[in-house]
Amino acid sequence: MHIVVLPGDGIGPEITAATSGVLRAASERFQLDLRLEEHAVGHASLQQFGTTVRPELLDVVRAADGLILGPTATFDFKDEAHGEINPSRHFRKSLELYANVRPARTYAGRPGRCGDFDLVVVRENTEGFYADRNMEQGNGELLVTPDVVISLRRITRLCCERIAHAACRLAMKRRSHLTIVHKANVLKIGDGMFLDSCREAAKAYPGLAVDDILVDAMMAHVVRSPDRFDVIVATNMFGDILSDLTAELSGSLGLGGSLNVGDRHAMAQAAHGSAPDIAGQDVANPVSLILSAALLLAWHGETRRAGRYAEAGRAIEAAVAKALREGRATRDVGGPLGTLAAGAAIAAMVQADCPSVLGFFKLQT
Ligand code: NAD
Repeated sequence: MHIVVLPGDGIGPEITAATSGVLRAASERFQLDLRLEEHAVGHASLQQFGTTVRPELLDVVRAADGLILGPTATFDFKDEAHGEINPSRHFRKSLELYANVRPARTYAGRPGRCGDFDLVVVRENTEGFYADRNMEQGNGELLVTPDVVISLRRITRLCCERIAHAACRLAMKRRSHLTIVHKANVLKIGDGMFLDSCREAAKAYPGLAVDDILVDAMMAHVVRSPDRFDVIVATNMFGDILSDLTAELSGSLGLGGSLNVGDRHAMAQAAHGSAPDIAGQDVANPVSLILSAALLLAWHGETRRAGRYAEAGRAIEAAVAKALREGRATRDVGGPLGTLAAGAAIAAMVQADCPSVLGFFKLQT
């Protein structure tokens, strides 16, 4: 399996190095024959090549079996005409990675902030309230006068339907419960279409229980009783915000794994950003990107019908659970280790026989 690795900005290079170590351990134990090919994106690329993403990288990624993208300093990248492209948007749109799958769960020995839970947020990834990806040409934010801005949100039936089916398929592999999160009481047309599309799609899945919750109320429900949720489907920005919350409720934003999936390609990406406040200090939690990489292996195993990749993904998740249970983790989850040491501990557990006893690792959409 050939994986392109783009470390990114801030804590990106640190958590990517830790993740690569875990992947090498998995490759050795499960004979995955992984080839990791690293390239610069973000500030490093801007400095070296005058652009945050070189155009030729897209072909490199298309020819590979998967992509790992570290967090990038997207807030800094404002002027596309001068090479400041948002790498995350670039790959999500160019590769049609329409489903962003973000699991969040608690771990034995590391109780979450609101009791135990195990859920997945499935977020639409290619349109919505993201000005840099909802127009064919130009940008979805307009400066009408120096003091007036209009920000446009795009919702299309095709994108609603395909994310709805992705979420339904995933829910059927789990506890057969789908929750649709929306704001159709105010955004009556756009979120109305999203809600209707999800309800309609769900009819094709016998036995699937479906409910829906307004996004503002959802913030209360998920904090009050996260254990009542299984798979949650949402439009782009609502899903982005909600999944940061569910990751933090599970113990830390640094535990939030995330896979961007399309019909042909997949990209592992941590749920969080480049965390400049802790960059270069060897304190960032690498688990988010490690779990994302495990999801990528599982996706590859399922799409290529190669069971050892899925097995490797499960072994990585089991090793993460064991490391957290034993407190061999970074400070954000109460551990004493630095980023690289936490990654090395997980890599060592992957290499030792670490049986999988966990149920949620069925994330192929
Ligand atoms: P952030 O997600 O980077 O950080 C939020 C908080 O969580 C910070 O306190 C940070 O220290 C902490 N945190 C994040 N990851 C952690 C980890 N692995 N371990 C421990 N603590 C962790 O959000 P931000 O600071 O608002 O954004 C920083 C930059 O990241 C901005 O430029 C933003 O645009 C960008 N960003 C990029 C992505 C992406 O590349 N996919 C996603 C979100 C934000």
